[in-house]
Amino acid sequence: MKVLELVGVGKRFGALTALSNVTLDVEEGAIFGIIGPNGAGKSTLFNLLTAIYRWDEGSISIGGLSIAGLSTQRIARLGVSRTFQNLRLFGNASALANVMVGEHVLLEANVLDSLLNTGRERRERTEAEKRARELLRFVGVSGVEEQFARNLSYGTQRRLEIARALAARPRLLLLDEPAAGLNPSEKHELVSLIRAIRDGGTTVLLIEHDMGLVMNLCERIAVLDYGEKIAEGEPREIREHPRVIEAYLGAPA
Ligand code: ADP
Ligand code: MG
Repeated sequence: MKVLELVGVGKRFGALTALSNVTLDVEEGAIFGIIGPNGAGKSTLFNLLTAIYRWDEGSISIGGLSIAGLSTQRIARLGVSRTFQNLRLFGNASALANVMVGEHVLLEANVLDSLLNTGRERRERTEAEKRARELLRFVGVSGVEEQFARNLSYGTQRRLEIARALAARPRLLLLDEPAAGLNPSEKHELVSLIRAIRDGGTTVLLIEHDMGLVMNLCERIAVLDYGEKIAEGEPREIREHPRVIEAYLGAPA
């Protein structure tokens, strides 16, 4: 079962072609890597999948359903959740509150319920808080639930962002350079965490620069260069692929 399918996707910013004719299938249950030099179009791809930008050509489906014209919120409800290359936490809110924001997409209670403080709203809030605490434990952030996000260490903030993304119970989790800025032991823990996320039933699409981490973690990898997919395969194939070596070394292999 394909959780994500791109066919011939193109995206331009004015005269710049950020993505060109990208075709990609991601199978449910995979840990799938997207690599490529800076400016290759990796983050743009995530921005198309979350309706931050619209693509110009081609089609994109999630779980067999076209996401053309859908809002970020609707796509989130289809089960797509993400983290950003640059952290986007609410610094002056607690760690717990940051995770609960991520659950919002699921909550049924509407604004009227909140105003009237109905039983449903209270029940959902208690449940949401309980789940947020569990998620913080799951990502390895315990004991700092009430602290402001901005006061947490960088590595902890990165985990917090993953917890927030997981709070929406995604079917497909998009991680944009989650290992950036982490030390070796934090990277090691991140690998275990991503495996645990996948083992819990969430498909993971991972943009990452740390080649060792990508090769170790991903079952399949696609390589972008100047907006084009130049290779796709298992880590071993990618490592030996002449076009990949050329893209990274900037010269023919
Ligand atoms: P990557 O994540 O692979 O480093 P990006 O997807 O961020 O690359 O960017 C791909 C190309 O698109 C780059 O040349 C970048 O400058 C350009 N780009 C990305 N977003 C915008 C935007 N909003 N406006 C103009 N150009 C953009
Ligand atoms: Mg990027």
